Amino acid sequence: MKPIFHSNLINGPFDDPGLYIEIFREKRAILFDLGEIQSIATSKLLKVSDVFVSHTHIDHFIGFDHLLRLLLGREKRLRIFGPPGIISNIEGKLAAYTWNLVGDYPFILEVVEVSPDRIRDSKFICKDKFNRKDNESEIPFNGILIDEPLLKIEGVLLDHLIPCMAFSLSEEFHININKDALIQQNLPVGPWLGELKRCLREGRSDEYMIEVPMKKGIKRAKIGELKDEFVMITKGQKIAYVVDAVYSEGNIKKIIHIAQDCDILYCEAAFIEEEINRAKERYHLTARQAGELARLAGVKRLEIFHFSPRYQNMEDKLYNEAIEEFNR
Ligand SMILES: [Zn+2]
Ligand SMILES: [Zn+2]
Repeated sequence: MKPIFHSNLINGPFDDPGLYIEIFREKRAILFDLGEIQSIATSKLLKVSDVFVSHTHIDHFIGFDHLLRLLLGREKRLRIFGPPGIISNIEGKLAAYTWNLVGDYPFILEVVEVSPDRIRDSKFICKDKFNRKDNESEIPFNGILIDEPLLKIEGVLLDHLIPCMAFSLSEEFHININKDALIQQNLPVGPWLGELKRCLREGRSDEYMIEVPMKKGIKRAKIGELKDEFVMITKGQKIAYVVDAVYSEGNIKKIIHIAQDCDILYCEAAFIEEEINRAKERYHLTARQAGELARLAGVKRLEIFHFSPRYQNMEDKLYNEAIEEFNR
């Protein structure tokens, strides 16, 4: 199976946390958290359609200016999701600059603020000097932030003394094409397969016809037949991202829920278990706790990051502690 989501931590484990996820063949990417992002190539940042900010502590939010600067003059619409207060946080950031000469810039920023029970959103349009425009209607929050045929993004609000969001990105199911079978039947490998996948994700009926470009002319085929002969559906990919949360009963439940059965869990591990009291005071997790949460959620792979600088040159201690608990 060729994964559709390609995820990479943006920085090293002692630097600002954040995850860049490229969506294969879609010219699209998403970001979990918006700390320092200077190390991401411009071409990659230009693919970002949606950003999910866990909370606005500076190490998770300072990259906003860099991204704004890059997108400003472009025909782009960027969505930012975040916890309570995110709309006024962004309004404040935008208010720090003077916007008198950008009247012809097409850039639009949409900000979605997530509370435990509702979602509201506001727009900041460059042509309007980024004046805040609130959408008056709110919708109830049921855990889902984005639900598209290709991907679903869910969020939960954790306790970090302030609300801090954890996220998951998942693919409902994965479509595998049997290329050998295509070749055997003299069918070409090409962009029409993308169209076939799109139709399957959108749930088109088996009778729906698509065009297959052949060496000579075009063949029309029913989706149902193509599916039976060349497609195998397997479990979709899932990635979860958890940062800055105290180890509490409420958080444990929510983290296990958001990370349940995922392929990769990116989880903060700020402290070692020996300093569990310090972790508790700062509303962070220890490496052992990260390992335990990953095990309880049945994740396939755990990646810990966001280490306290006090463990500089001792990172093996954190990795070992997490892995030992994860494999228990
Ligand atoms: Zn924090
Ligand atoms: Zn943090």
